[in-house]
Amino acid sequence: ETAELLARRQAHLAGAQKNYYAAPPQIERGWKEHLFDVEGRAYLDMVNNVSILGHGHPKLAAAISAQWLRLNTNSRFHYAAITEFSERLAALSPDGLDTVFLVNSGSEANDLAIRLAQAHSGARNMLCLLEAYHGWSSASDAVSTSIADNPEALTTRPDWVHAVASPNTYRGAFRGPDTAAGYLGAITPVLEGIDAGGEGLAGFICESVYGNAGGIPLPDGYLAQVYAQVRARGGLCIADEVQVGYGRLGHYFWGFEQQGVVPDIITIAKGMGNGHPLGAVITTREIARSLEKEGTFFSSTGGGPVSCVAGMTVLDIMAEEKLQENAREVGDHLKARLAALIDRHPIAGAVHGMGLYLGLEFVRDRTTLEPATEETAAVCDRLLSLGVIMQPTGDHQNVLKIKPPLCLGIDSADFFADMLEKVLDEGW
Ligand code: PMP
Repeated sequence: ETAELLARRQAHLAGAQKNYYAAPPQIERGWKEHLFDVEGRAYLDMVNNVSILGHGHPKLAAAISAQWLRLNTNSRFHYAAITEFSERLAALSPDGLDTVFLVNSGSEANDLAIRLAQAHSGARNMLCLLEAYHGWSSASDAVSTSIADNPEALTTRPDWVHAVASPNTYRGAFRGPDTAAGYLGAITPVLEGIDAGGEGLAGFICESVYGNAGGIPLPDGYLAQVYAQVRARGGLCIADEVQVGYGRLGHYFWGFEQQGVVPDIITIAKGMGNGHPLGAVITTREIARSLEKEGTFFSSTGGGPVSCVAGMTVLDIMAEEKLQENAREVGDHLKARLAALIDRHPIAGAVHGMGLYLGLEFVRDRTTLEPATEETAAVCDRLLSLGVIMQPTGDHQNVLKIKPPLCLGIDSADFFADMLEKVLDEGW
């Protein structure tokens, strides 16, 4: 049945839309941090950064269904939920970032943020980082430089995209105490090139924690210095918080807090709807006005009543169940368990990240840092057979992408660490 359904999928769904795993289990049901296949087998879901509350939350399901029965419509009508949800998002954001656009996804949010930066500055050029993913729509794809997601990424960017090396503190050209200075120095000629072109800089977009490489925190002071240089040229700074923001880091609600900066535009999606399509751009009133010059902004379903109720209920449940605190406590515990693996297994090169946003990086050699790509794929396959869903990330696909629902229990964190230890003990 599963194989037959997969064959039918291949006949009519676009091939570029790939599954996790070559022979994936057919998922039927979810509950908290677990998924169940059609044969009733349980899997611990360690990669799901969309379902932050966990799967099958009854309170969220009830709120969505009640609102759906009462009213759902496009966002040009006047109803309470869109006002109330915008107020709550503004209250969660730094002072001054009090104006909200509601959309349906992270790609849309980043597309709109880039459009705002271009409209506000009157310039087209965008600065971004290498090995990044910001979405699939035209502008968000243009600044997505990850060769793991798109092998052609570095040769097919439009001329207004200027990508600079991500400040990776573990691998890359500059390491140790000079990381920030080295990578900042590498930006200078790029900015000088933009200055010389005379067309100005619209803005800079990056994740506040280096996501695609497994959640590596940016070096201290990095964002403050890049932001200063971008703003000196009239550009806007966009924080893509689609993955790292909204409490996942445990120690911070927003990723940019860790760098002590305040962006001009925040983009969010994924967990804010817990799987219900929902995204947002949060900015200042003055920046938001730059679109009024162009006309109206309108997203049919972005900010519809059901979406707004879903978003507010997610925030309620996060507070009631103290999910950010859970991400901090369970995340710290899990990080310590993974760090212990480094002492026993040479292949485990480093554990990155914080909260429930962790990356375990596999290397063949701790001096050359040669990525253990095939080994990482084999570890993920073996983990599936032990009932754990885990995937690789990064340009070398050698980092375990550890981003479970924020309700992850200590027992589940231990189960994951135990299974990983078992796999490493078996093979490497
Ligand atoms: N930004 C980041 C950092 C992401 O990880 C993603 C999705 N993986 C996106 C944007 C795009 O979001 P969506 O898939 O909702 O369009």
